[in-house]
Amino acid sequence: MAARTGEEFLKGLKGKRDIWVGTDKVEDVVDHPAFSGAAHGLAGVFDLQHRYADDCLMPDPETGEQINVSHMIPRSREDIYRRHKGLARIAEYTVGIMGRSPDYMNVTYAGFAGRSDEWGANGNEEGAQNLVNYQKFLRRNDISLTHTIVHPTVDKAAGDLVGPPNEVPLHKVGETEHGIIVRGARVLATLAPFADELAVYPGQPIRPDADDYALAFCIPMDTPGLKFLCRDSCAGTQNKLDHPLSSRFDEQDAFVIFDDVEVPRDRIHINCNVGVYNQVMSTGWFPNVMQQTMIRAQTKLEFAWGLATRMSEAVGSLQPGPVQMLGEMWSYAEFARACIQAAEESAYEFGNGVWFPNGAPLTALKATLPTWFPRVNEIIRLLGSHNLLATPSAAQLANPELRPLIDRYMHGANGMDAETRARIFRLAWDFAGSALASRGEQYERFYLSSGQRNQQLAHIIADRTRADKLVDRFLKEDTGVEAGQKLAEAV
Ligand SMILES: Cc1cc2nc3c(=O)[nH]c(=O)nc-3n(C[C@H](O)[C@H](O)[C@H](O)COP(=O)(O)OP(=O)(O)OC[C@H]3O[C@@H](n4cnc5c(N)ncnc54)[C@H](O)[C@@H]3O)c2cc1C
Repeated sequence: MAARTGEEFLKGLKGKRDIWVGTDKVEDVVDHPAFSGAAHGLAGVFDLQHRYADDCLMPDPETGEQINVSHMIPRSREDIYRRHKGLARIAEYTVGIMGRSPDYMNVTYAGFAGRSDEWGANGNEEGAQNLVNYQKFLRRNDISLTHTIVHPTVDKAAGDLVGPPNEVPLHKVGETEHGIIVRGARVLATLAPFADELAVYPGQPIRPDADDYALAFCIPMDTPGLKFLCRDSCAGTQNKLDHPLSSRFDEQDAFVIFDDVEVPRDRIHINCNVGVYNQVMSTGWFPNVMQQTMIRAQTKLEFAWGLATRMSEAVGSLQPGPVQMLGEMWSYAEFARACIQAAEESAYEFGNGVWFPNGAPLTALKATLPTWFPRVNEIIRLLGSHNLLATPSAAQLANPELRPLIDRYMHGANGMDAETRARIFRLAWDFAGSALASRGEQYERFYLSSGQRNQQLAHIIADRTRADKLVDRFLKEDTGVEAGQKLAEAV
């Protein structure tokens, strides 16, 4: 099967799976009120790839079938540019609200398969071959994949490095004729209700003696023993005027419990191999996946700037103070755009003939965005003030008794009609103030480790060569002190 349509994607979600939300064990995610909007929102992503086939699709290198370009294993700078166009289409569709649209994992696994040489190190040849086979399955069946790479927090004082006898993190507890049995828990599977399969791969390094915790695999969502506890829904009503974003983009997040789950042998990519587990994420994964996630983030920033501008125009709020804040927002979007461009232009071969963007500009961006996004929300709320909450609903606008009054009293500046004004401020509230907005801010702070850790990492991996040279000039130049001392000694 090649690239799927939205209808095919929704049909694929109909199977049995152990998904819990609020008081419900959900039988059918497509029809459940907590999930239906986002299921259809994501279906739109699948339809989009056919609508913009030139940007989004490419032939599978072996079968020639049309697959999404996010599955591409880049082998040149041109491939990186080609992939950019497809990723941008998806980011524009969700205006960056859905961080884990399926292209995120497609890019991740394309990168893994491209660097199968790294996965095959330390005696893990079979796991690496399974991974390459899996990536072919993923792209040819256009699978929607959720993932979980983080161990649940129980006691921060125990440190980051997991290992025995900790029973909570996912670990292997046995072997069967067909594979292995795993037990424990992981966080935080965004997209879980809308996924066909679950991916487990390394996050933070683990202790050298933690072999049983060194696991990577992919399994179907309906695998017996897999349980997903979703957070409370942020989905608004299905009315697109009232809840333009939360009606369709609540991608969900789930705590994952592995209650003695059997993983088939051919789905195992790392089987108790700490050497590979601790190494495999340290080179190309970050620069590769950052292309997807930073195109998404940049799109979200540009959308936020556009929205805030419309908001200010709607109430004639274009004095120096508001305009300064709009300029601040534009600067974030432009810095992000420039970083992505720089990373793509300086892409290079990472090994095995595989090309990824240059990680340095993307590392800087990743470390900074967790402070920019909350600020962007703050600006929208400052500019919006009470107007964000003085917004008639679609039902009120349609009410013949209310409509003439709404038109008279709730219109905007410079002749803007009341419905346009309501749409602008409802969109802004859904972006910066609603439950979905709050979850989105949490996502931007943490989705790939906390901002604090990313800032530390940025410093640790940075190339110091030029900075050292600039400083050394002053530290190593002849200041005359030494000569003066010698002279003093001689006298
Ligand atoms: C909305 C959302 C969606 C997510 N989706 C996914 C997903 O799909 N798949 C997945 O696997 N994971 C997902 N995650 C989990 C995410 O990967 C982790 O939350 C992230 O790695 C941060 O880890 P942590 O929670 O242990 O926080 P930590 O990194 O421990 O940070 C928590 C806080 O502790 C402090 N802190 C910790 N370490 C340091 C340090 N070294 N220096 C200074 N301060 C420090 C900081 O104040 C920081 O804010 C998601 C998280 C969120 C919030």
